[in-house]
Amino acid sequence: MFPLNRPRWVLILSVLQACACAAVFARPLLAWGPHPDITRAALRVVPHMQEWEESLGKENIAALTQYCWMPDWRGQDLGVFYADDYLLVRPLPYHVSHVMPAVEAAFEVYFRRALQGLRTETPVNACRQLGTLVHFVEDVGAPPHAKPNCPHHSELENWVDAKQISIEGYQPRLLGNTDDEAWRGLKRRIDGLIAFSAERAERALPLVSSPNPDRTAVEPIILESALESARVTADLLYTVFTLSLRPADTPGAELTGTAVVPPLPGNDDQQVRIVLLNTDYATLATLPDGSGPEERTYRFAFHNLPTGQYQVLAYRPGAQAQVLETSLAPGEPAQLHFHLAPTDPPGNLVYNPDFSLETLKAGQPDRWTKSGVDAWVGTTIALRPGKRYRIGAVFRQVDATVEFLAPPGKRAGEQDAPLLRIVLTPRDGKAAEAVFEAQPGYPQLTVKIVTKDVPGEAVERVWVCEAD
Ligand SMILES: [Zn+2]
Repeated sequence: MFPLNRPRWVLILSVLQACACAAVFARPLLAWGPHPDITRAALRVVPHMQEWEESLGKENIAALTQYCWMPDWRGQDLGVFYADDYLLVRPLPYHVSHVMPAVEAAFEVYFRRALQGLRTETPVNACRQLGTLVHFVEDVGAPPHAKPNCPHHSELENWVDAKQISIEGYQPRLLGNTDDEAWRGLKRRIDGLIAFSAERAERALPLVSSPNPDRTAVEPIILESALESARVTADLLYTVFTLSLRPADTPGAELTGTAVVPPLPGNDDQQVRIVLLNTDYATLATLPDGSGPEERTYRFAFHNLPTGQYQVLAYRPGAQAQVLETSLAPGEPAQLHFHLAPTDPPGNLVYNPDFSLETLKAGQPDRWTKSGVDAWVGTTIALRPGKRYRIGAVFRQVDATVEFLAPPGKRAGEQDAPLLRIVLTPRDGKAAEAVFEAQPGYPQLTVKIVTKDVPGEAVERVWVCEAD
């Protein structure tokens, strides 16, 4: 084993940086401007809201105005969870485009996943998951998302006065009484929204592409799309709440439990992923409200699960995954208690650093995305200014390369800074390690495995740990 306390070579780099979790609930730079405003307008008219708030918690429903950004945060660490916890699912184990026609792959998958979340998970998990569906449905109401290959994307989705988005008086429709019927109803509604907004794109395009475009002439057209998006979103929310929060025809099984995790300096409030292996059921274990910083016992809960034997996996970065078995039956609540061992080296901030987690798709390590023909990129890691980081890799192939990439931040004054790139190769045929210090201007780091094979063929494991 590579002696981790005696690195073969050490490199001190000065890296510029920014605030570590800057991504948390930040508005993406280029996006359908009024997502939160559309969601808020829809929530205001959804019938029986008091009932839904009693089931899910007022704060969780209100948070939909933020969770509706979820797909725009893909690959991001949002502080206590990763956006990908609610984006990557077994029927869709990769990120989809947000524009027509490719976005059509998202709707049915996330509709059924949202119903599943509301029926089987805790309200906080269910509402985050629902945010993903809400985003994609709202997105196709943006004119440049509805019209394929639409130019002037930014103007056509941002030239709108968000304060005018209100659908007071609109009566949301129940889109069906069963899941299948509701899916067909939603599909028709989405198809209608796409046609509606593609027509607005055609009307607004000559205006925005003229030499001196008159924004005031464009805004009313984009507003029509925003209002129709809000109406469809209201139908959608009313329908998923109605279908998923009514008592189940046949009671399902309950599974609760705890997960104790080792410390993870730099990401210690990250929640714990719980996966029922070889099924579509997954959730996050959260800390109980009011628990202190030293508290590391996360809790999870599923209800309405199908009867059967399950292998249940718990994982969070900085820990090794653990799998426990359980048998579920209605009326016999089951409990599982996980105690996760630390990674080697401890405090590894890389998600799935040895590529052994494959809960979504065989042959595709969780949270590693193929980039071009010869590379795989991992989940972003938030850097803290002034911290020194140990970065390293143990290699299997002598010609493999691992790159640690820190792009400049997106805030004013940061964008023009150069990309920082530290390349590790197997110096002694097996391993390499370096140290660098994070400084303002570079908020995050990603790890890239350069190989034509799957990453685990080329590299045994990688690490990024706070050094002090
Ligand atoms: Zn989007």
